[in-house]
Parts: sequence; C-alpha cells; structure tokens
Amino acid sequence: MAYAYLKEVMDELNIELPVLKIGTPHPFPEDLALKFLNEMEEVLVLEELYPVVEEQLRELSAGCKPTPLILGKKTGHMPVAGEYSVELIKKAVCAFLAIELQEEEALVELPQLPPRPPVLCAGCPHRASFYAFKTACRGKKVVFSGDIGCYTLGNAKPLETVDTCLCMGAGITIAQGLHRIEPDTVNLAFIGDSTFFHTGIPGIINAVYNNADITVVVLDNRTTAMTGNQPHPGTGRTAMGKEAPIIDIAEIVKACGVGYVKKADPLKLKEAVAVAKEAMEHKGPSVVIFESPCAQNIKSGTPLYIDERCIACKKCIRDLGCPAMYMEDGKPCIDSSQCNGCNLCSQVCPVNAIVPVGGEQG
Ligand code: SF4
Ligand code: SF4
Repeated sequence: MAYAYLKEVMDELNIELPVLKIGTPHPFPEDLALKFLNEMEEVLVLEELYPVVEEQLRELSAGCKPTPLILGKKTGHMPVAGEYSVELIKKAVCAFLAIELQEEEALVELPQLPPRPPVLCAGCPHRASFYAFKTACRGKKVVFSGDIGCYTLGNAKPLETVDTCLCMGAGITIAQGLHRIEPDTVNLAFIGDSTFFHTGIPGIINAVYNNADITVVVLDNRTTAMTGNQPHPGTGRTAMGKEAPIIDIAEIVKACGVGYVKKADPLKLKEAVAVAKEAMEHKGPSVVIFESPCAQNIKSGTPLYIDERCIACKKCIRDLGCPAMYMEDGKPCIDSSQCNGCNLCSQVCPVNAIVPVGGEQG
C-alpha cells in the first residue's frame, strides 16, 4: 500500500524519486538493498506496522561508505501507529525533500457519501446462520461470541449477533468463560471453517474436558473468504492448488468427544432454526455445522422480486439487512443486479410476496 500511495504522491507532485520496493522482508533481499543504499545519501522508509525494513536497512547501511541516513519511524519521520494514506505520505515526502506544502494542499475534499454500515454480501449464508440462531433464541438471555472473519460483520444492525470479538478461536473460549460466570445465559460461539482449523480445535477440546454448556456454530462456507479465498484443510486442495485430503470438521468434533454434532444448510431456514434449538437444548458442548458456500464462489441463482402481495411490513429489510434490498416510495424492492437468489428473504416474508423473477413460489 505504501508503494501505491507513494506512486500517487510522485504523480501529484510531478517528481521522480529512486524507489526500492520491498514486497516481503522475509528473507530480506540484502544484495538488492545494498545496491540501492550504496547509491543513496538519505533514505526515507515507508512501511506500516513494525519498522522491520527500516531496522534491516539501518543495519545494512553501516557497511556502506559513505553511510546513508535511514529515516523512518525510529527517527520520528514517520508515525509509529495508524494506517498510511496518500495525504500522510505526501506530507512525509514533502518534509523529506523540503518542499513547502500549503496546509490546504494537504486536504482532499471528500465527496458527500451516504452513511453505510459494513455489511455481509447479498446472499451470504452467514446472514442466514445468524438469523436462524437469533430466531431460535428469541426470548432467551443470550451472548453471541464472535470471531475473526467475514462473519464478524454479523455484529452490525440488523443482525447484531456478534457480542464479543477478540482473536482467532476466542469465540469458543470466551463462550466457555461466560458460561462459568453466567450459567443461566445461552452461550453461543460462531467460528468460520478456516478459523476452526486455525485455532478452534483447542477450544472445543477444552469445552469437552470441562463440560462447558455452550453451542459452537461452525460457519462452513468452504473457503477463507475474508482474506481472498485461500484454501484450508477442509477444502480438498493445498495453497499450491494440489489435491489434498478433505479434513471433515464433524469428524474432528466427534473425535474431540462432543455429544451433539449436526450439519445443516442455513439457507433452509426452518430446518436451520430447528437444529439451532435442538443444539441449544443439549446439555454440555454441542456443535452445529452450517454448510453453504460463500456467495462470492457460486453462480448466482434466479434473482427475486417483491410482488403486489407485499404489505410493506418491512420485516425482510429490518430482519435481514441484505444489501440487495432497498426502500422506494415506502415499499421494499430488490435490486436484481445484486440479488443472488439465496431465497432467505422469501422465507421470512409473512405473505409470500417475494418470488423468483419469472416464476412464483407459494
Ligand atoms: S416481508 Fe414481505 S410483506 Fe413484509 S415488506 Fe418484505 S416483502 Fe413486503
Ligand atoms: S434472495 Fe433476498 S436475501 Fe437473498 S440475495 Fe436476494 S434479496 Fe438478498
């Protein structure tokens, strides 16, 4: 990102600077860096997070004659914390080159944008999973312990089904801790399939070992969606694209000693709610595996539209918050270019007014 910002800044300032772009500092490209350092008097290091490159360059520069000056976070020329931006790098580059920057020049006029909360994709099966449990829990005292992944977005309105989020795998262990101090509360833990393989299993073992009365919901969309669809041990292929054995989440959970393990399709709402209720009634740890592929990885089905039976109760919009739905003249509508036909909204409509384009369902 820093490189992209710098390119933009050089274009804006109409300057050319010698730039060494380091894609990954492990292993550090020492020869390349030395060649660069030997030609420089001063180097400004632009990197987010810990100053790894800066430290390496400083060490290497000691061997150059004359020794170039390395500027960055350690010398106070770049901020230690926070994300970089074009404006921030422009300011730093101007200071580095002693270019006078007018205060107003540094400000970019932002267009007026409508307020928009972060949202799960249209047709995302996680929306259905959260909604199924929210429906099954109605009237109960419940804590939804969340985890890291696309599904952290379940915290936003209208779902509001992520009450805690700490680190990968923490949903399961936080739920266990809460169960100890609030045994009268339903404690749910949501975790993605990839996170389950990463750090979920020790928490499951701990729940069985200590007989924690919690329900763990594995949101299995068969990918690591948030970071770019990387494969994981449940997908049947390696990171290099080779075929690999599929590690079955249900079998692992059973092997850990969980007494209740069930798979369900969250987009079949009635069935999903029934499984959610059953799992919560089970004494001791229970696991529900909601299986449905990531909406980004499947071909969209027939989009839906809202017909004249709609009574404008807004339940579909208020309950689900699907970004394919919007209000027009007081009535909800579906943007067919966004709808992937997941059918979730048609299952919540009390008057069956949501039907596939070109056909009816009752
Ligand atoms: S739930 Fe059905 S009736 Fe209610 S607003 Fe949505 S489409 Fe209309
Ligand atoms: S079917 Fe309904 S919930 Fe699913 S993507 Fe279309 S509008 Fe959204």
